[in-house]
Amino acid sequence: MSRSEHPASPLVSTRRSFLKTTALGAAALSVPSKTLWTGSPKRRRQDDRLGYALVGLGNYATYQLAPALQETSNCYLAGIVTGTPEKAERWKEQYGIPDSNIYNYENYDEIADNPDIDIVYVVLPNSMHAEYTIRAARAGKHVMTEKPMAVSAAECEAMIAACEEANVKLGVGYRLHHEPFNREVKRIGQDKVFGDIKFLETGFGFRIGNPDQWRLKHELAGGGAMMDVGIYAIQAARYTTGEEPISVTAQEIKTDPVKFATVDETMFWQMEFPSGAISSHTTSYASRVERLFASAERGWVELSPAYSYGGLSGKTHEGPLNFPQVREQALHMDHFADCVATGRPHITTGEMGLQDMKIIEAIYQAAATGTRVVVG
Ligand code: NAD
Repeated sequence: MSRSEHPASPLVSTRRSFLKTTALGAAALSVPSKTLWTGSPKRRRQDDRLGYALVGLGNYATYQLAPALQETSNCYLAGIVTGTPEKAERWKEQYGIPDSNIYNYENYDEIADNPDIDIVYVVLPNSMHAEYTIRAARAGKHVMTEKPMAVSAAECEAMIAACEEANVKLGVGYRLHHEPFNREVKRIGQDKVFGDIKFLETGFGFRIGNPDQWRLKHELAGGGAMMDVGIYAIQAARYTTGEEPISVTAQEIKTDPVKFATVDETMFWQMEFPSGAISSHTTSYASRVERLFASAERGWVELSPAYSYGGLSGKTHEGPLNFPQVREQALHMDHFADCVATGRPHITTGEMGLQDMKIIEAIYQAAATGTRVVVG
């Protein structure tokens, strides 16, 4: 995917006005971690900041995470892992990264011996998240991995087990848990500000370009729009209700069977929650949609755009919502670093990522069989 194609790209709004900047992540869930990290708190370095190493220097690492790491207080960009020597040179120059903190995919495991690197952040294509997370854990490093956490629930379970065994923390890059508009929707929903949530509509999609990119190859992406951005719509429903869906029904529509030969193009799905709330969702690689709408007993809240890096907009039946724009990636990485340093539990756990993957698997199964599927 070229930099201008992804809705999260900073160039999107300038090059393609019909696609507003968008990004992924999601706001906080109430689901407690079943396996809280139990290691002893990491002592902070002299300058009080922990070192992150970014693995995979693609668009998200380059245009969001590295700039965000220039704004963090609890952590900094200590190292990189890349298969491209030219990128290594460029990043070394731009961010003053010492040679000793630059790795490639062959010598990646040697990161175990590097005391500068406390946290490894995996920003590779989806199907590589599990392997590089497990190897980081075995190297004794705390791990943040991008969404989707992996391409199956079984992989997520293996990642959680590896991190537990190594006694390191595992987080997933759901940055919207630190974004004010989404946090407000979570508060309204979970604190029942307008009463019980009865109905939700959430959707995230964009028009994808280059047909050769990894996002359209099942072996690298694990799925299509659902894995990439549909996961935001799932997260939104979970953090707005504070509940876990019991069951799903789903439908898939493919208008271009060549381009989307191995991954889903557009999907609609519906979920039922224990309280009786019901929801309807959309994800697509064919059209732009970016909305979070929740209707409660005495009112409603809506965000649109809902998940972008900036320019979010929201209102309730009482009027507009106004919050400052933040760089949620910086808040997200600072939060995780602080939790590593202090031993406190972090928000976006591996269990949260695993639960999303169980829901996605149920949605795929429901679409394939045309039946209502209970979430595992
Ligand atoms: P990208 O294509 O821009 O970058 C992928 C990187 O992986 C590149 O540096 C590429 O060289 C490297 N790579 C290594 N092996 C590869 C292989 N076999 N095939 C392809 N690339 C390979 O992708 P991206 O947009 O940076 O996405 C990376 C991850 O970050 C994905 O999991 C994506 O879902 C996630 N992401 C998250 C957000 C967010 O807001 N949280 C936004 C964008 C992307």
